[in-house]
Amino acid sequence: MGLKNDKIIVIAAPSGAGKTTMVKRLLTYNLGLEFSISACTRHPRVGEVDGKDYYFFDEERFKGLMDEDAFVEWEMVYAGKYYGTLRSELDRILDKGNTPLVDIDVKGAMSVMDKYKGRCLSIFIKPPSTEELKNRLIGRGTETEETLAERINKAELELSYAHGFDKVIINDDLERASAELLEIVRGFVKA
Ligand code: 5GP
Repeated sequence: MGLKNDKIIVIAAPSGAGKTTMVKRLLTYNLGLEFSISACTRHPRVGEVDGKDYYFFDEERFKGLMDEDAFVEWEMVYAGKYYGTLRSELDRILDKGNTPLVDIDVKGAMSVMDKYKGRCLSIFIKPPSTEELKNRLIGRGTETEETLAERINKAELELSYAHGFDKVIINDDLERASAELLEIVRGFVKA
């Protein structure tokens, strides 16, 4: 039997653009959206829960799943740390008739768009400036000097991919940007 839904929403943004907050808000509306839980090999941060925020796997398990072709896409997002979208996760959500909300890095987003052409809405969330992004990352207090530099370098590269997305939302103001996101997503799921 076919899956009960075929729409997929892909959201990407440089780390610190405010994407997580916006996605969390979006999920509180009754739009039939469900967060697609990625697999990753980084360690859980304080408060993160396995099977809710991520499926936290060790590298051996992750690589085994790569070999089994279990991923729609996977990337080494940060040095030595793998992240990937499991096909079983998307199917689990689609089979319930829900729309997966896939919150991943820019390269991974491009792969998902390519694999599910014509079924995806892709959204890029942009910070107002690199300076602001740096301030937000420092404010979050989760980064060391080294990981901060890595995240900023990656963010600068990611910003150059924004044009490849269906929609670009500038997170200059959380309320305004969240309202814009809600309107765009509502239009897609109701169509
Ligand atoms: P964090 O370590 O801050 O949770 O996430 C780091 C980056 O990995 C974010 O940009 C996030 O969007 C990305 N990411 C999370 N899950 C996936 C995934 O399944 N695939 C890819 N390619 N990137 C992911």
